[in-house]
Amino acid sequence: MATLELRNVNKSYGSGLPDTLKNIQLSIDSGEFLILVGPSGCGKSTLMNCIAGLENITGGEILVDGADISRMSPKDRDIAMVFQSYALYPTMSVRQNIEFGLKIRKVPAAEIDQEVARVAKLLQIEHLLGRKPSQLSGGQQQRVAMGRALARRPKIYLFDEPLSNLDAKLRVEMRTEMKLMHQRLKTTTVYVTHDQIEAMTLGDKVAVMKDGIIQQFGTPSEIYNEPANLFVASFIGSPPMNFIPVKPVREGSQWVAPLDSGHGHLNLALGHTDQDLTGRELILGLRPEQLALAGVGTVVQLPAQVEVTEPTGPDTLVFVTINGTKVCCRVAPDQAPALGAAMAVGFDAGKALLFDAQSGERLAIQSNTPAEPSAGNIAQFKGR
Ligand code: ADP
Ligand code: MG
Repeated sequence: MATLELRNVNKSYGSGLPDTLKNIQLSIDSGEFLILVGPSGCGKSTLMNCIAGLENITGGEILVDGADISRMSPKDRDIAMVFQSYALYPTMSVRQNIEFGLKIRKVPAAEIDQEVARVAKLLQIEHLLGRKPSQLSGGQQQRVAMGRALARRPKIYLFDEPLSNLDAKLRVEMRTEMKLMHQRLKTTTVYVTHDQIEAMTLGDKVAVMKDGIIQQFGTPSEIYNEPANLFVASFIGSPPMNFIPVKPVREGSQWVAPLDSGHGHLNLALGHTDQDLTGRELILGLRPEQLALAGVGTVVQLPAQVEVTEPTGPDTLVFVTINGTKVCCRVAPDQAPALGAAMAVGFDAGKALLFDAQSGERLAIQSNTPAEPSAGNIAQFKGR
């Protein structure tokens, strides 16, 4: 077990090219499971290769247990990596594949046998040890690739999209196994994925990356409930968060955001702010599951008309239009209104998120139940 810290890590693949990694700052505690998630091409594999030592960084430091390892050769770093492609040696048996790293390190034969037996049992591949990779299914190959990493008991594991080549059902099974394995071994792990469900379910911490920049680093709950910007808010969550454009207007001493469904109107109070919001465009962020509440507490309601319904099994997605945008509400199937029916779209104004449309940054918003409830006067807006 070990801590891993990245300080201002930069990576450029050549002068004239834009930096692939830009000032990466991350810190992982001993035994923690960090998820690195982001769209294809954002620099995830590059970052893993830099940590493993397969690529040189062009700036910053990588520290393991406080010591800078960024100039060390890969074999001295004591880091094991599982690649998306598995990269098994095709001519070697499963046993030989698992042993290979240990033999290179000149581990005594008796110890190697013990390690192979241990990981084969852990991964339930004991019966496959004599086979060649070509005689294995994708899921079995994936286990062997993991076995090769696990046999080494390194300080840190790096997994680069290890499940992305598996079919959907096996991916879900292996996801649970990954979690169980980490709970047992408690080895510091960085796990790359572009799958937001894996990101939410597997990690102690999540780093969301785009264009070589960490957009947000936090717990899964922070990433989901307090996204730092529109990109993070849109990337995590399915169906995705609704983004409703709003143009604040002055109403007495405060700003309000008018919401209109064509069947009802609501002025959502943004409270007092020193900032002049004249002409500013904001985005109201509401997740589909936040949009089906009954009218109690700080809940506001906006009458609307159901335009589309999509039953998914566990819940039904109901679509209405607010401020010219299709808005998805996630409701229990037995509470789903019929097509064309009137519906009160209810949400907790205190939990609504506000973003600056231009910069994409989230603005701080604080719930505030007013002394005298009046339609929509609930959210206290505080500009950053
Ligand atoms: P991800 O794993 O998130 O899909 P990568 O780290 O593979 O992304 O790639 C990030 C960016 O770096 C891409 O634009 C890619 O084209 C570029 N890149 C990756 N490897 C090299 C390389 N060896 N030389 C030049 N550019 C590269
Ligand atoms: Mg990649």
